[in-house]
Amino acid sequence: KSKEYRYQNYAIFDEKLSQEKKRLMQLEQDLFSSIKNNELILHYQPKFNINNEKIVGSEALIRWQHPTIGMISPMAFIPIAEKTRFINNIGKWVFEEVCSKIKEWTEEGINVVPVAINLSRVELYQPDLIENLKVILTKYRVDPKLIEVEITETTALNDIDFINKKLTDIKSLGIKVAMDDFGTGNSNLSNLKDIPIDVLKLDRSLLLDIENNERTEVMVKSILSLSKNLSLSTVCEGVENRNQVEVLKSTGCEVVQGYAFSKPIEIYEYKKLLK
Ligand code: C2E
Ligand code: MG
Ligand code: MG
Ligand code: MG
Repeated sequence: KSKEYRYQNYAIFDEKLSQEKKRLMQLEQDLFSSIKNNELILHYQPKFNINNEKIVGSEALIRWQHPTIGMISPMAFIPIAEKTRFINNIGKWVFEEVCSKIKEWTEEGINVVPVAINLSRVELYQPDLIENLKVILTKYRVDPKLIEVEITETTALNDIDFINKKLTDIKSLGIKVAMDDFGTGNSNLSNLKDIPIDVLKLDRSLLLDIENNERTEVMVKSILSLSKNLSLSTVCEGVENRNQVEVLKSTGCEVVQGYAFSKPIEIYEYKKLLK
């Protein structure tokens, strides 16, 4: 009897697993047509100068408006896209979408601010990346100073020589490079010293209890001062409340991005904000 019971359990588990597998395979398939079906959209999250609270830039964050499932978060589909390499098409779409909007807004006389775009590790290994970026910049006549790319700390600290060379190539286009999610990977300070980045984005996990933990405050202060001494700009990410903002002001933080100031917003709302 107990054997039968266990067998039944196992069967249910097995079925669940294959359902999950089927779901992922379906998503993987659907993703291939997401670009031509206009299902991808960008939200923009503004970044602010912490002292005067003026908008100083933004980050483009992708969402997938799936026809039957609804809005899907990048955390759910970027890994799938990386697996199939379709991320290369997505990345190109994001870059073109951002550049075309910058051109459009500039022509309308709107004061644009730099936009940061997330680059996946897979994209850095795509041999045409630099050429693609160059072609799109030229096509829309976008000042490269208005573009920043973000790569995560984990991406940045693996295969260092190759990544450093790629980042140097990107920077030679005039595009700035930011290290995203700093504090979540296995940081190696000697790499941080050598990697050709312009901006350090402190991950939200570093700041979580900064308003009531002095040790967190000391740590963040030290990272910000290290960053400054390496001539990097800094962004504090995921700042959610005013208490955090107040403490951050005393740490030397310059730029903040987070719910305390603004969530990622739809494009029409972002355009209004720029105006
Ligand atoms: P990320 O680049 O670190 O982006 C910041 C994430 O934190 C965003 O999540 C944003 O909505 C969220 N966030 C911002 N402020 C706050 C806050 O105050 N509190 C909290 N709890 N969260 C906050 P999102 O939009 O879900 O994006 C998740 C990740 O997906 C991004 O992390 C990035 O790694 C990736 N991603 C997004 N768009 C793209 C893209 O176009 N290409 C690639 N390759 N990856 C992307
Ligand atoms: Mg990012
Ligand atoms: Mg981040
Ligand atoms: Mg992240």
